[in-house]
Amino acid sequence: MSVADQTADAVVVGGGTIGAWCAYFLRKAGLARVVLLEKGLLGQGASSRAAGVVRMQGGTPEAVRLGQWSRGFYLSQHDEIGTDSGFTEQGYLLPCFTEEEVTAAHERLRMQAALGVPVRWLGPDEVDAANPTLAPGQTLGGTFCAQDGFIRPPRNVAAYTAALLGSGVEVRERVAFLGLADDDRSVQTSQGPIGAGLVVLTGGPKLAAVGQLAGLRIPAGGVRHQVAVTERHPELDPARVPMVFDLAAGLYWRPEEGGLLFGMSNPDEPPGENREVDEGYLAKMRARLAALVPVTGGLGLRRIWAATIDYTPDHLPIIGRARDRVTVACAGGAGMMWGPGVARAAADVALTGSSDVVDTSQLGLDRFDEAGRSRLATDPIALPFPERITSS
Ligand SMILES: Cc1cc2nc3c(=O)[nH]c(=O)nc-3n(C[C@H](O)[C@H](O)[C@H](O)COP(=O)(O)OP(=O)(O)OC[C@H]3O[C@@H](n4cnc5c(N)ncnc54)[C@H](O)[C@@H]3O)c2cc1C
Repeated sequence: MSVADQTADAVVVGGGTIGAWCAYFLRKAGLARVVLLEKGLLGQGASSRAAGVVRMQGGTPEAVRLGQWSRGFYLSQHDEIGTDSGFTEQGYLLPCFTEEEVTAAHERLRMQAALGVPVRWLGPDEVDAANPTLAPGQTLGGTFCAQDGFIRPPRNVAAYTAALLGSGVEVRERVAFLGLADDDRSVQTSQGPIGAGLVVLTGGPKLAAVGQLAGLRIPAGGVRHQVAVTERHPELDPARVPMVFDLAAGLYWRPEEGGLLFGMSNPDEPPGENREVDEGYLAKMRARLAALVPVTGGLGLRRIWAATIDYTPDHLPIIGRARDRVTVACAGGAGMMWGPGVARAAADVALTGSSDVVDTSQLGLDRFDEAGRSRLATDPIALPFPERITSS
C-alpha cells in the first residue's frame, strides 16, 4: 500500500522493541494516527536476536529506574494487551572475584536498595548454596536480586506486533525512512512523503545511519555479540540455576530449555555490523563458563548465533529531543532490560518534553561532544562495549 500523501500525528522509525513500544505508547496517549515505519520486517534487527536478560540491578539510578519500569510493564502486559513477552522471574547473581569488585558491589547495592530494588548481599557460602552448579569457593560473594529475570525476545516481537495492531498503530513494513523535509513536518519514505506532527527516530545498531538521514549526528554504534545454548543436563534444571553475570569477564548465563544460554562480547571487537560466529572467541567463552560451571565443559551446543548489538559511548540510553518535533531513542544495548521504559519515556518526551518513567534531562544527545564523548560516567554494569563509535 502506498503511504504517499498521508498525514500522521506521529511517525516512528524502526520496528524493533524501542520503536514498536514507543508507537504503541504514543497511540495509547491519545494520538489518533501513529505510523510505524520499518524498512524490513518487525523485529528483524537486534530485538529478535537478544538473550532477553532483564535486570533491575542497574549501575546508575537511571538504569535502575528503567529496569524497574520495564519489569513492571512486562508483568502487566497480559492484562493490558492480552499477551506478554514471556517474563520469567529467575533471580540474578552478580558475583565478585576481587576485593575491588566487592567494594563497588556494596556501593551499587546501597544505591539500588535506596531506589527500592530488593537486592541483597550473599556471602561466599551463600553464593555456593544458591548455585549448586557453580564451582564452589570461586567467589568473594555477590549481589542477588530474586526479582530479576528474562524475557523471550521472539515472544516480545510477537507481543508488540499484537499491541501495535490491537491499538490501531499503522504498521508499514518494507517501507524505509529516507529523511525529513519541510522543517521536519514531512517524513520522506521509500513510498513517498508522510506529513507528521511528531517524529521519533530509533534504529538500534543502525541508529547513527537513521540520524544521518535526518541531518543528525547520533553517537550510537553496533558491534558483534555472540550467544550460544548448551545441550540439556539434569544439573541445569532452571530450579538450580539463577542467572549470573560475571561482570569482569563480560560473560552472562541463564537457563534455557534445560541447558544454559550464555553470551559474551569481545572487548577487542572492532565496532561495525557483523553476524558471523567467531569460533575462537566462542572457545574462550566456553572455557570461562566451564571454569565457573564445570558441568558445561562436557556439553555440546544446540544453538549459536552472532548479531549486532547497539551501544552508546557511555553505555547509557539516549532519550531526548534532537529538534522540536524530532525525538531520538536508543537503549544502548539494553533494550530487553530497559526497552519498554525507554520507549515510554521517548513517547512522553516527544509529547511533553519530560517523563515520569525516568529523569531524561541528562539522557539527550546534548551530553555528547563533537567527537561523541559523553560528559556522563560510563554505566559500570554493562558488557565490555567499545567506547568509540567507529573502528577508525
Ligand atoms: C545477541 C544479542 C543479545 C542481546 N541480549 C540482550 C539482553 O540479554 N538484554 C538486553 O537488555 N538487551 C540485549 N540485547 C540488546 C537489545 O536486543 C537491543 O538493545 C534492542 O533490541 C534494540 O532495540 P531497537 O528497537 O533500538 O533496535 P532494533 O531491534 O535493531 O530495531 C531497529 C529497527 O530499525 C529498522 N531500521 C533501520 N533503518 C531504518 C530505516 N532507514 N527505515 C526504517 N527502518 C529502519 C531496522 O530494520 C530494525 O528493525 C542483545 C542484542 C543482541 C544482538
